[in-house]
Amino acid sequence: MSLTEFSLIQRFFTQQRVKNPLTALGIGDDCALLSVPEAYQLAVTTDTMVENVHFFAGADPEQLGHKLLAVNLSDLASMGAKPLSVTLALTLPSVDEAWLKAFSKGFLSLAEQHSIDLIGGDTTSGPLTLTVQALGLVPKGKGLRRSTAQPGDFIYLTGCIGDAGLGLKIKQGYACSDAHAQVALARFNRPNPQVEAGLALPDIANACIDISDGLLADLGHILKQSQLGARLDWELLPLSEAVHAYINETGDWSLPLIAGDDYELCFTVSPEKAALLTIPCTKIGLIEATPTLRLYKAGQLQSLTSKGYEHFS
Ligand code: ADP
Ligand code: MG
Repeated sequence: MSLTEFSLIQRFFTQQRVKNPLTALGIGDDCALLSVPEAYQLAVTTDTMVENVHFFAGADPEQLGHKLLAVNLSDLASMGAKPLSVTLALTLPSVDEAWLKAFSKGFLSLAEQHSIDLIGGDTTSGPLTLTVQALGLVPKGKGLRRSTAQPGDFIYLTGCIGDAGLGLKIKQGYACSDAHAQVALARFNRPNPQVEAGLALPDIANACIDISDGLLADLGHILKQSQLGARLDWELLPLSEAVHAYINETGDWSLPLIAGDDYELCFTVSPEKAALLTIPCTKIGLIEATPTLRLYKAGQLQSLTSKGYEHFS
């Protein structure tokens, strides 16, 4: 590499301001040091993106930087954790300064939007692989889990689903109107992690997950870990105009059920607490004691064969 690792970090990954008083020591030593307030637990998550697996070769580096951080913040959001700081491990085939500049811009602008410190990382040479570890704080015992849904809970979604999946189809050649393509591609390229919504949920929701692999797959994780089932009504799913138009044209109504990458939150709330919800969200179904998921469309029970996108399947 033409730049030493440390000068590369200083040049591209120095934030304008270190904001968090809990960051006792940031980039530059063997470890970063964080203070964890007594009343909180540290929420820790990692996600990796590999070229040709999670993103196309030649993908826009600014969008990649944004998306890499966004998917990790989405995991914190689904636990109801407040983002605190991140580490960044970069494996790069070469030092491409234009690429690094754009990537760090996408990454750091989302970090700064959420007042997150980049506190360390690693930089190595090899096939393009991007890893973030994100750290957040959640009040002790209040972290939102997958395993704690209750029979009778209503099931909710923040935002619309299926748009990112439509964006992927457009990248793969599906043709639609420019206006719809713009909406769908923006959702695919620049997901908006539901951090604020997640922070509003710990005292209200019983269980929560973020939609990364598709509604059926991710709600399926809540059901399996809670040892419960659910009823979903297709007509209740919140869909954008772009996804409606796609379904009208193709007849493929499974897209919002199985497409991933939307990064909305799916959560369950008891009927007694439903009135406390203040965030924009849509009720899509009901948690039931009978295991597995029952999907109704036009009042008819549907058989579910496709379980959403699974790695290594
Ligand atoms: P070490 O040899 O102890 O692993 P490094 O030389 O890998 O240290 O890194 C030097 C400093 O730069 C460390 O504080 C490390 O956390 C930070 N760092 C390295 N790569 C990155 C990166 N991609 N983003 C942010 N910080 C990084
Ligand atoms: Mg190192």
